Amino acid sequence: MSIPTLISGASQILTLRGRGPRRGAALANIGIIKNAAVLIADGLIAAVGSRAQVEAHPMASGAQQLNATGRVVLPGFVDSHTHLIHAASRANEYELRITGASYEEIAKHGGGILNSVSKLRAATSDTLKQRAHLALKQFAAYGTTTVEAKSGYGLDLVSELKILKLHKELCTEQPLDIVSTFLGAHVIPAEFRTQKSGVKKYVSLLINKLIPEIASQKLAEFCDVFCERGAFNLAQSKQILEAGKRFGLRPRIHAEQLSRTGGAQLAVKLGAASCDHLEKINRVDIRALAKSKTTATLLPGCDFHLGLKQYAPARELIDAGAIVALATDYNPGTSPTVSMPMILSLACTQLRMTPAEAITAATINSAYSLGRDKQIGSLELGKLADISIFDVDDYRDIPYYFGMNTCHTTIKRGQIIYSKSQRSTT
Ligand SMILES: [Zn+2]
Repeated sequence: MSIPTLISGASQILTLRGRGPRRGAALANIGIIKNAAVLIADGLIAAVGSRAQVEAHPMASGAQQLNATGRVVLPGFVDSHTHLIHAASRANEYELRITGASYEEIAKHGGGILNSVSKLRAATSDTLKQRAHLALKQFAAYGTTTVEAKSGYGLDLVSELKILKLHKELCTEQPLDIVSTFLGAHVIPAEFRTQKSGVKKYVSLLINKLIPEIASQKLAEFCDVFCERGAFNLAQSKQILEAGKRFGLRPRIHAEQLSRTGGAQLAVKLGAASCDHLEKINRVDIRALAKSKTTATLLPGCDFHLGLKQYAPARELIDAGAIVALATDYNPGTSPTVSMPMILSLACTQLRMTPAEAITAATINSAYSLGRDKQIGSLELGKLADISIFDVDDYRDIPYYFGMNTCHTTIKRGQIIYSKSQRSTT
């Protein structure tokens, strides 16, 4: 048994306690305790509450002290949508967009996702792994403790397996938990575009070869589809996600980002874990999501990076009662950031979410969308001691400061995995 740790002195502890996921007005309920403490033992939360209560716990007296005076303590962020494994930046396309080309025009000329696919296929597992390791360290430095990761830059059996195996290896080689999603249906790969009935053939390859293989090797928990014009239409998305379900892969879906396709309602019908993007949804979609258990995951980093004016209607989704989550969508084409605090800033200023709502969306609701709300996403007895400590004395300062990192300490399963003060002394 390791020595317990007692975190005390914090100006605020955001427990996010209570039933998850949160909908409507409950999204603003972040369970703040002042003059509070958290006791960690064996990687789990052994006690949380007022300082007096926690200090009275039998294990508190021998615990090592972690002084959080003047800081805010909250659950580690759960980033429920990333494209972790990729080979290179696409800064050249970033410049092209600034000078007038649209995202879809660039994609038509072999740029976009296909550009990342050819680079990934050419890269070795070692190179990809090194890049991902560096990114994961950065995720931790911004307070994130669990990361969902999608394949989708391979688009053939060998390359998709290469990515999904890396998810598994990375999960054991570094402290953050990685939740693996198969996104073979990201776009139609170049070699199928020139073939007669190429799209049909690729969908059949996904359904008959890749999904069964990935499921048998247990390389993913979820199956995702990019349901969008220029990618997969509604009927193909349904076919692929249903095939995934037959093999035990829960559906997630990229939907209604650049055009309205009906993907959000498909997600609801299939009982998808999450439906992501949603910039173009209408009132009927909002109502359907609100009545469902499918999480509406919003990715404002994408709209920001692409310079788009239309963000997802977060207010309407929250007010209607949908389960709203936030994620970075870390990827080289449309959202090259690992910073959940930056996503919170965008959620507040662009999506008109309050700081409390944004924090709930990035913790307990994101955890729910990954099927992990019983283990992570709040600071409650028996949950994993996944904790971030911010160098601010009011939680609203976390989104208020944008483009700067106020994360001071990140703890995963009770171990410090990032510390600003340690870093500056070594
Ligand atoms: Zn994505």
